Amino acid sequence: MEKITVFNNLTRSKEVLKPIDSNQVKFYSCGPTTYNFLHVGNARALVVGDLFHRTMKSMGYNVKFVRNFTDVDDKILEAARVRGIHPKEHADEFIRECLTDMECLGMLPASVTPTVSESMPEIIQMIQDLIKNGYAYTVDKDGGKEVLYNVPMFKDYGKLSKIQLESLQHGVRVETDGNKKHPSDFVLWKPAKADEGWSWESPWGKGRPGWHIECSAMAKKHLGKTIDLHHGGVDLLFPHHENEIAQSEAANGCPFCNSWAHNEFLNFGSEKMSKSLGNVVTIRKFTETYSGAILRHILLSVHYRSKLEWTEDSITKAIGEIERIHDFVIHLYGEQKTAPANPAELAHVKSALVDIKAELANDFNVPGAMGIFFGVIKDYNRISKTGSDENYIFELIEIVNFMKAATGLVHDYPEEVLRQLNIARKHLSGTDNEGGDDEIEKLLVERKEARATKNYAKSDEIRNRLNELGVVVKDNPDGTATWSYK
Ligand SMILES: [Zn+2]
Repeated sequence: MEKITVFNNLTRSKEVLKPIDSNQVKFYSCGPTTYNFLHVGNARALVVGDLFHRTMKSMGYNVKFVRNFTDVDDKILEAARVRGIHPKEHADEFIRECLTDMECLGMLPASVTPTVSESMPEIIQMIQDLIKNGYAYTVDKDGGKEVLYNVPMFKDYGKLSKIQLESLQHGVRVETDGNKKHPSDFVLWKPAKADEGWSWESPWGKGRPGWHIECSAMAKKHLGKTIDLHHGGVDLLFPHHENEIAQSEAANGCPFCNSWAHNEFLNFGSEKMSKSLGNVVTIRKFTETYSGAILRHILLSVHYRSKLEWTEDSITKAIGEIERIHDFVIHLYGEQKTAPANPAELAHVKSALVDIKAELANDFNVPGAMGIFFGVIKDYNRISKTGSDENYIFELIEIVNFMKAATGLVHDYPEEVLRQLNIARKHLSGTDNEGGDDEIEKLLVERKEARATKNYAKSDEIRNRLNELGVVVKDNPDGTATWSYK
């Protein structure tokens, strides 16, 4: 098992990940609110959570990964009201859409994906524990009862965000809720309004939970009182994660989480970006227009703790790199193993896998690992011109398999990946013609059949027709063919 270091925001330093239970990493990542299709900006946290999950697994850790769905929320209630359907129906519909997006982004399923609506007994129990331990109080609100967390009671408040409670008291007098004893106090349970349509019985009457309590309750339910690693976007660090700590530690009387990792934002600020992305804003629209592989590649192109600036050429650059990787994979599997062994090349490629693992073990440094991987591809492209030794090919396949599992940036079915890249290129250049690909695919099938029956006259004729359509066909060593626009 390779040791992984993670930048822990509790201590603001890189630390070796030491699971409490040596056989299992208990990992929680805050999931999306399912009121609508997710925005491309939401995808970064999802893909980074998946990267942690994959890398830890590939390094030999047994990971229990919990990612929640927030299916109880003001926006969900409002959207359902507008549609005239039950909020659960609306939330469940977008959970399904979100799972489709995640699959398209090449994400592995989490071990558990709990929802708020199914976790209500645990949420209510935790609020009761907080009241019992003196960290929460009840007030009258909207004809019912509201439960608030008493922030000044939790002496460690601010230990993650490094925000001083005193600084919050001053200047934050925009608070209009007269029920709060301190402006930082936050809602654990709110009473149901008459027309809300989805509420739960509780010791405080009908109502529903505040946002923060759900993660504390679901983490405890599925992972126990103390977990190893918690992840989310940097926007969740304060107050959400600070409040999760306050809730869990005050309710359970022990540390909540040993390591906190946060990914930086994806910035769409510049005008140039909007030009290249047009009005493609949801993950669904992006993946339908370009592909999930392209979005994943862009999202992992910089270290998760660095800001990611979407630029005019983000998509073009990703297409070029994905093509280089999958051209390599196609050739690797069709390689003729004829040349004698070259010990120096073999040693070099063996050390490349060690170095790739070391980069990923170093706070999930994907750009570092990709740099080495592209070096391997460059070497291969040079060496393969004179043929390659079987052991050398074997080592390369090991690297490809590791990159596939640990990063999800190498995909199965490389021919299909290249085909999607061609479509993406056409969208990018605005030359996509509806149905055009169907004719090309049909001609390629006919050409393959012609070649199989050694009808070379016909296969040449088809090649000429493809040429007229602006298509170049490449025959691969394994008998398959790939194509691209000239
Ligand atoms: Zn959360």
